[in-house]
Amino acid sequence: MNPKPNIVNLPVYKPGKPIEEVKRELGLSEVIKLASNENPYGSSPSARAAIVAELDNLSVYPDGSAAELTSALAGHLGVKNDNIIFGCGSDEIIALIARAFFLPGDETIMADQTFSVYKSNADIEGAVTIEVPLASGTHDLDAMLACVSDRTKVIWVCNPNNPTGTIVGEEALTTFLDSVPNHVMVVLDEAYAEYVTDLSYSNGIQLLERYSNLVVLRTFSKIYGLAALRIGYGVASPEIIKLINQVREPFNTSRLAQAAALAALGDQDYVQECRRLNSAGIIQLQREFKRLGLESFPAHGNFIMVDVRKSAVDVFDSLLRKGVIVRAGHRLYPSYIRVTVGSTEQNIAFVTALEQVLSEQGVRA
Ligand SMILES: *Cc1c(COP(=O)(O)O)cnc(C)c1O
Repeated sequence: MNPKPNIVNLPVYKPGKPIEEVKRELGLSEVIKLASNENPYGSSPSARAAIVAELDNLSVYPDGSAAELTSALAGHLGVKNDNIIFGCGSDEIIALIARAFFLPGDETIMADQTFSVYKSNADIEGAVTIEVPLASGTHDLDAMLACVSDRTKVIWVCNPNNPTGTIVGEEALTTFLDSVPNHVMVVLDEAYAEYVTDLSYSNGIQLLERYSNLVVLRTFSKIYGLAALRIGYGVASPEIIKLINQVREPFNTSRLAQAAALAALGDQDYVQECRRLNSAGIIQLQREFKRLGLESFPAHGNFIMVDVRKSAVDVFDSLLRKGVIVRAGHRLYPSYIRVTVGSTEQNIAFVTALEQVLSEQGVRA
């Protein structure tokens, strides 16, 4: 076999452990997964009904341009139809951007640490990734700007940032966008935008008119609770959307995904309720962390990065044995776990398990 040399050492993406696997391996009957930032309340009931109705059409290819969903989303966001492209999750939009824009040797700038999918796709296309350390867990936009060169094609800004959960506010973001040269595309990944309640946060959609080099990524996987269906989208100028469309597979989103997304979009009461419950969950978890003397980054999405002040991988393993799946193994944060904000009951179960694990490990140490 002769693969492209740039993919030889590429790691295979490690997802959060599936509940069924943990139950089987550890012989547990109750397992809570707070590892993949999924919506603990599921999706809107209207999404389920839309899928059932769509089951009569399984033999028919989807509309590759997702016209009906595009129109509904354009209306919802206040943009035009030709500002939108759908993908098999926003993960696919990231891959399509890399495919459309990177030649080997091009440079791309991102935070260290941030969502790993940006770098893996840059690696696949042979682009050179420049990783700029976070400052207190937050994107250091000045330092990222200082890395721009003639070879820079794309800068990735994950807002809120996964895994730290921090945000850059409107002022910092627009100051940055004002300074980025026009030949450089800025991809603002807003997978968790609908969860943010902080008033300093600027919704990237509103900035699109001012910055023709801006692409905003959103998804139906997080607050809309449709992760299984794989549907996300990019919003940008018609010129950029056309370029991304040129490298898109013809039928990249399914009929079921389009139907469910359309119904879910129409149920904004559900979205609002999930946002409210998530904010309450953040307060609940932060109160418990404070009681346990643990520090966490400010959380703006549906997850919290908390410093357990021990090997996060060990704490992860011990939590797993108690039936709670979280995330650990963040290279720059070896003592932090990332936990998804669950329901009140899930959060209590997690904190109870964490408290036991920390005291057991404390005794051993
Ligand atoms: C979850 C996530 C995505 C994309 O999820 P899809 O399911 O592919 O839409 C994109 N960016 C970040 C930062 C995420 O956390």
